[in-house]
Amino acid sequence: KPNFLIEDLHVSIDEKEILKGLNLHIRGGEIHAIMGPNGTGKSTLASSLMGHPHYEVTSGRAVLDDQDLLEMSTDERARAGLFLAMQYPSEVPGVSNANFLRQALNARLEEGKELPVLKFHRTLQDKMKQLNIDPVFAERYLNEGFSGGEKKRNEILQMSMLEPRIAILDEIDSGLDIDALKIVANGVNSMKSENIGFLIITHYQRLLNYIVPDYVHVMMQGRIVKSGDAKLAEELEAKGYDWLKQELGIED
Ligand code: ADP
Ligand code: MG
Ligand code: MG
Repeated sequence: KPNFLIEDLHVSIDEKEILKGLNLHIRGGEIHAIMGPNGTGKSTLASSLMGHPHYEVTSGRAVLDDQDLLEMSTDERARAGLFLAMQYPSEVPGVSNANFLRQALNARLEEGKELPVLKFHRTLQDKMKQLNIDPVFAERYLNEGFSGGEKKRNEILQMSMLEPRIAILDEIDSGLDIDALKIVANGVNSMKSENIGFLIITHYQRLLNYIVPDYVHVMMQGRIVKSGDAKLAEELEAKGYDWLKQELGIED
């Protein structure tokens, strides 16, 4: 059962401090949501956990099971079981979706070992069907010419193939119509188990009608300022972020 601990995380971009002491504890079987206004550092949290070179961790800890993630390369973090579905997935010309996934899966195995090709393709086809993804997408170049909704569903496909221990979804709901949103939510809900913990980052409450979080955290100005259960998300939807700013005495 995964155990993911973030303690007093401080992160800067170009010398400017964005995360100012963030704490979070996610265990297997739990779905945590982080909500917050634009520009508060939600994507910074996701990218710095994955080891994006633009983000400088100046202090704090991020430990998955007994492994110190901050000491690892991005590849090593992925092998340790961390997965990030990005707000803006990038296009990778010349690499098909299927090949990308097969390489990512093989990279997790011992040196020289490979997944049986037939088994891989069967699993891929099954998962694509579950997520309503047209089978031709397997052979298309990664995200090239995909619509916003297709990219997001493709991120969920990657997640379900890679079976991470901790999955971070950064605004997976942005730009999705209601049908695509339900498909994405079903993908997450069907994966929920003791073997995986989720961190769902979202600006809006809408997604949380379909993926019910165990914990909701509100982030403002680089810190978690309030935590609660799914009701907190509904309260925010009804009253807005300004209400909470006033309640907590936070100034812009
Ligand atoms: P959120 O995801 O909550 O909208 P971000 O983490 O994207 O917030 O941004 C937090 C702050 O960091 C913002 O002030 C933003 O302008 C700044 N920022 C984010 N990414 C970069 C970057 N690559 N270069 C410079 N500043 C950035
Ligand atoms: Mg943003
Ligand atoms: Mg963001």
